[in-house]
Amino acid sequence: MAISGNLMFRCPVTGREINSGFNTDQDGLRGIPPMQSMHVRCPACWKLHDLKFSAGWILPNAASVGKRVIAG
Ligand SMILES: [Zn+2]
Repeated sequence: MAISGNLMFRCPVTGREINSGFNTDQDGLRGIPPMQSMHVRCPACWKLHDLKFSAGWILPNAASVGKRVIAG
């Protein structure tokens, strides 16, 4: 089962990880040409970055990771 989550990038200015808010999974990411880029309003430096999908990675959301449920 493919892991889904938000596509993450690294801010070229601050070096911080930024969440693009773009939800996808491994299969979805494979279907996007690596040289394809997207514009992301960076939450770290507030600039608009033109980031390539090949530079991104998926931050698995809680549902797909399967958090341990503590009973009681
Ligand atoms: Zn930035």
